Formats: sequence, structure tokens, C-alpha cells
Amino acid sequence: MISPKIQDAINAQINAEFWSAYLYLSMGMHFEAEGHTGIANWFRIQFKEEQAHAEIFINYLLSRGGRVELKAIADVPTTWESPLAAYTDTLAHEEKVTALINNLYALAEAEHDYATRGKLDWFVAEQVEEEETAKSLIDRLKLIGDNGLALYMLDQELAQRVYNVPSPLAAKA
Ligand code: MG
Repeated sequence: MISPKIQDAINAQINAEFWSAYLYLSMGMHFEAEGHTGIANWFRIQFKEEQAHAEIFINYLLSRGGRVELKAIADVPTTWESPLAAYTDTLAHEEKVTALINNLYALAEAEHDYATRGKLDWFVAEQVEEEETAKSLIDRLKLIGDNGLALYMLDQELAQRVYNVPSPLAAKA
């Protein structure tokens, strides 16, 4: 069994992952409407990854005999003034998620729940990757500035991104 404290914290994390999914879907819809279909594709895949993160926590909670409680998902923004603004929001959001994962990790240690702590290792590494990717796209968009051709080329590149099921979920399926 899992302690009520850890169960509540994981349920809060499930909600945060779904909120992330909702945020990136909103970004995808915005850039689709703006004609940046490659950037839209990138965010739609990000949406799927965040849903997968929520599912990993759901499966884990169930495997420990816990109860999943799906709460309301708060509103997300619907417009961004530029791709740079959206990736700046993405990085800021991922830094918040990293802090949430770190808090969960600290709670698991405090509660001597080493199974949960171990499960979180994948998320700790995943957050490094999320932040690095957002930072790299911010750097590139700053270099691009208002060069339309360069932005078009980046959009074409981001159109190539494909969804890969995250390994903890693939292992379960
Ligand atoms: Mg996530």
C-alpha cells in the first residue's frame, strides 16, 4: 500500500501533467491557426508526451494499490505573440514541473517510500531533457529574430518530429 500523503501528492502530479498536456495542446492549436504547422506538430507531440506522463503516474499509483482521483484541469492561455514567447513559456513551465518532481522526490525520501523515489528517477532525467530542448529552441528563435526564411526552415524541421511512447509506458503496454 501507498501512504495517503504520497497518494495525494501523486494525484496532484497527475493533474499537473494533464495541465501541461492542455497547455501544449493549446499552443499547438494556436500555431496551427497561425499557419506554423511544424511548430504546431511539435506542440501536439508534446501534448501526447504529457498525457503519457500522467498515465505513467496513474499506472504506478494503481500498481501500489492506490486510488486515482482526477481533478478539474485549470484554464490555459490560448494565444502567444510569437513562437519565441511560446517557448519562453514552455521553459518557465518545465522549470516549475522540475520543482514539483523534486518536491515529490523529497517527500518520497521523507516518507521512506523508496519504490516511489525509484519511479521518479526517470522523471528527473526527463525534466533535464525538457528544459534543455526548450532552452535550445529559445536560443535558435533568438538567432532567427525576424528572418522569415529562417523561421520557415525551423518550422519545416519541427514538422518532422514524431511521437515515441515514453519508455516507462511502453514497458507497461
Ligand atoms: Mg511532464
